[in-house]
Amino acid sequence: MTTSEINGDLLTSADASITYDAIVVGCGVIGPCVAVGLARKGKKVLIVERDWSMPDRIVGELMQPGGVRALKSLGMVQSINNIEAVPVTGYTVFYNGEKVVIPYPFKADSKPVEKLTDLVRQGNDKVLEDATVHVKDFEDDERERGVAFVHGRFLQNLRDMVAAEPKVTRLQGNVIEVLKNPKNEVVGAKVDIAGRGKEDFHAHITFVCDGIFSRFRRELSPDHVPEVGSSFVGMSLFHAKMPSPNHGHVILGTKHMPILVYQISPSETRILCAYNSRKLPTDIKSWLVKDVQPFVPKSLRASFDEALKAGKFRSMPNSFLSGRQNDVTGLCVIGDALNMRHPLTGGGMTVGLNDVVLLMKKIGDLDFSDRETVLDELLDYHFERKSYDSVINVLSIALYSLFAADNADLRALQRGCFRYFQRGGDCVKLPVQFLSGVLPRPLLLTKVFFAVALYAVYVNFEDKGALGFPVALLQGFSIVFTAARVFTPYLYAELIG
Ligand SMILES: Cc1cc2nc3c(=O)[nH]c(=O)nc-3n(C[C@H](O)[C@H](O)[C@H](O)COP(=O)(O)OP(=O)(O)OC[C@H]3O[C@@H](n4cnc5c(N)ncnc54)[C@H](O)[C@@H]3O)c2cc1C
Repeated sequence: MTTSEINGDLLTSADASITYDAIVVGCGVIGPCVAVGLARKGKKVLIVERDWSMPDRIVGELMQPGGVRALKSLGMVQSINNIEAVPVTGYTVFYNGEKVVIPYPFKADSKPVEKLTDLVRQGNDKVLEDATVHVKDFEDDERERGVAFVHGRFLQNLRDMVAAEPKVTRLQGNVIEVLKNPKNEVVGAKVDIAGRGKEDFHAHITFVCDGIFSRFRRELSPDHVPEVGSSFVGMSLFHAKMPSPNHGHVILGTKHMPILVYQISPSETRILCAYNSRKLPTDIKSWLVKDVQPFVPKSLRASFDEALKAGKFRSMPNSFLSGRQNDVTGLCVIGDALNMRHPLTGGGMTVGLNDVVLLMKKIGDLDFSDRETVLDELLDYHFERKSYDSVINVLSIALYSLFAADNADLRALQRGCFRYFQRGGDCVKLPVQFLSGVLPRPLLLTKVFFAVALYAVYVNFEDKGALGFPVALLQGFSIVFTAARVFTPYLYAELIG
């Protein structure tokens, strides 16, 4: 997009005198998919984004196979093309120097990808061949694929898809208020537009997709606010020698916090280093040198040290927010504005995109001027999304607790979890299906999580030997109790909330 398009009339000339079928607030990852999906269903859509230029962020860079599948269902998977995206075939988990390789699941173990009517057409559910993305890998391989990319480049592709839809009007402006009628129902949005001032735009329904720092999620309830317990500090590594090419790397150990590493283009690799507080260390560089550098795999050290020298550190808070029912007439909150999980497992885009798929199925064919029927469907939608979202959300927070272990029980669970993965077979197959977003079964997740906890107890017995039996027995109770404490409240909040 040229600067004149960004600043010029094209993005500031939206008509405020008509009633749109839908207003979409935010053109990040989820907003474009909502806008394109609705437009292909014949709706007249206004999408408002405060900044259409390419964002430079350290979020949303590795998409799990469940996200790729959702893009296929929406007919938008070609958004991963021509951005030097890096195909991902699985994870490599390091633990105190040992490693285990976890490939993504077999396609045959999941349902075939659904093709949404009106959205999938002319082969837009298949990737194109380009320099880094190969049709044979994504379409013909027996295993699922994920993908990693430079976030801003992916977003630009999504935004180009928005621009290509004749029924979508784009607007550059800051949404400053959700408009309501005297019955407290949402009727549109007030937008502050450079050169035009503050104007009201009206629609039958307003989709709030304003992301992690959402200003409008509280329209659902004043207590719909995220909890933040930790942060990620990120750097770009250039020309890094990856220990396992085409894999996400999770580096764990008893003496440090989790470190994530994945390649986002042929030359750039993202490293995210967890810090167990929302408040960052005052001297980030010294913290990285002392608490991260010694645990970085050897092959990455040269590029890590270069990045340290360059000193370009960026950070993000890691938030958790259970979803909430969309029970306000004329409003639908979706994406990170609705629901967030720990980024450790890279599940945010996957959850949001699957929410869009479900949304299109629930309301895509309705007449939006019939606001009561749309509301009824949105009330149902809250319950239907739970089995999918809860697995990814609860897994992320439970794994973070284990991987960032800050007491003896959690360290025992961390060790047990790694040993469990080392057993292979179902001990790897099911966890990676949950992580990939292809196994939406929360009760099965519960069973697997507690199987890991019991295995951790067993490993602890083995480590302690016959003489340590009484201690291991006491610790066993404590480990299972700790496992329940880090898992059950989140599962409850996700399933019952
Ligand atoms: C450190 C970190 C790493 C992550 N890594 C991954 C990962 O590897 N994989 C993954 O799947 N997920 C990851 N996530 C989560 C992922 O980034 C989000 O789930 C995803 O970006 C959510 O998309 P969204 O459209 O809801 O919000 P966003 O992508 O944040 O988009 C919101 C958009 O709304 C616009 N906006 C906001 N307010 C207004 C306003 N008032 N008016 C107009 N426009 C507005 C913003 O400019 C932005 O374009 C990560 C998150 C964090 C914190």
